[in-house]
Amino acid sequence: MTSTHPQHDTTATHATDSGRTNHERTVERMAERRAERTTVTVTGRTAGETGPDDGAASDKSASAPADPDASTERTKRCLTDGGTDVADESPSFDATVYYERDADRHALDDETVAVLGYGSQGHAHAQNLAESGVDVVVGLRADSSSWTAAEEDGLRVATPDEAAAQASVVSVLLPDTVQPAVYEESIEPTLESGDTLQFAHGFNVHYNQIQPPEGVDVTMIAPKSPGHLVRRNYENGQGTPGLLAVYQDATGEAREQALAYADALGCTRAGVVETTFREETETDLFGEQAVLCGGVTELVKAGFETLVDAGYAPEMAYFECLNELKLIVDLLYEGGHMEMWNSVSDTAEYGGLTRGESVVDREGMDEILQNVQNGEFAREWISENQAKRPAYTQYRRSEETHEIERVGAELRTLFAWDEDAEDAR
Ligand code: NAD
Ligand code: MG
Repeated sequence: MTSTHPQHDTTATHATDSGRTNHERTVERMAERRAERTTVTVTGRTAGETGPDDGAASDKSASAPADPDASTERTKRCLTDGGTDVADESPSFDATVYYERDADRHALDDETVAVLGYGSQGHAHAQNLAESGVDVVVGLRADSSSWTAAEEDGLRVATPDEAAAQASVVSVLLPDTVQPAVYEESIEPTLESGDTLQFAHGFNVHYNQIQPPEGVDVTMIAPKSPGHLVRRNYENGQGTPGLLAVYQDATGEAREQALAYADALGCTRAGVVETTFREETETDLFGEQAVLCGGVTELVKAGFETLVDAGYAPEMAYFECLNELKLIVDLLYEGGHMEMWNSVSDTAEYGGLTRGESVVDREGMDEILQNVQNGEFAREWISENQAKRPAYTQYRRSEETHEIERVGAELRTLFAWDEDAEDAR
């Protein structure tokens, strides 16, 4: 099997081929990229410039990255008593990871944190912070069904503008698509020098949909998990891994305060990795498009359709291509690729190692990444929302009516999957 890919030479499918395995090539490529990362600045347009031909977008058209930290080497910044520099122990992982001992819990003592939104992340941040002793006010629309829920959870609730006005730290946990409007209307007018804007995802800041004023700290604590797990882990005395990034450090204390926020959220119990708004945003978008959400569903659909088109029973195709995926993912999650290869048969291992690569389109992946990096995807998604989501609605409809959905719904009622037992594991 040979590949015609021009950039990624993937001809060394077999370990013995030309003396170098794919793994060796990957290691080499990663080393090159690490070296590049110390010198390369953001590709594409520079801060404030808007992209080409985005006439449809408003003056807030997504422009590629205005991230002051984007071009710098991933600095191994440490707080007074030092983040834990993993590079000291492992030369292949050059991130700074913070734990409880690195955080000063008192950095939020004199602050009021407004948590805007009480959805997946909002309810977890508000409750965890409050239980950690932080003064929290939840910001919700007057007609929000979450208003009573938040009050019943023992929290103070106000409208978004009232909450933002009371707070020195505003944690923006609204859907990413509504953040710019709420920012303009309810947050920006209340911001004072020395306040903090805190995010859980970098999209709006990185693509200039929110342009915070000078004098305000702009930070991110992004738990690598849905909110209900952030909350459950906290209640169980466990932590949820998270990312920390500082976009703007006006006070000189942005990192320390963000770390205190991560600590109150329970993230430092598990480990908080330092990143940048640019890196978090671009890797998050790439991952969900190419691998996690988009990549996986397309892979499953293509496998399902290939079997069904060849005359195999849809039920067999469903089990093989969708249902069993969970078993494989569990192994990958627990112990990486080798745990999975060690657990499947040698036949599955040999077949997978020799055939898997041919179903992945590396050029397609590169294009996805380029569109994330140059702001093209962001512009498209912003215009799509401005136009009330016509394409999104169509894609959803075709996904809902795909045969795999019908077969799956039927099979799931025929077979008992013990969800409780799984949860308890
Ligand atoms: P969500 O959709 O679960 O909750 C959003 C909340 O905002 C809801 O309480 C909703 O009622 C409220 N809201 C919606 N429109 C509003 C408006 N106009 N004014 C006031 N309130 C409004 O959102 P989420 O998934 O918690 O995402 C919040 C942030 O966290 C996003 O930036 C997201 O990218 C980030 N994030 C999410 C996850 C996750 O797993 N869900 C993980 C990491 C980061
Ligand atoms: Mg994500």
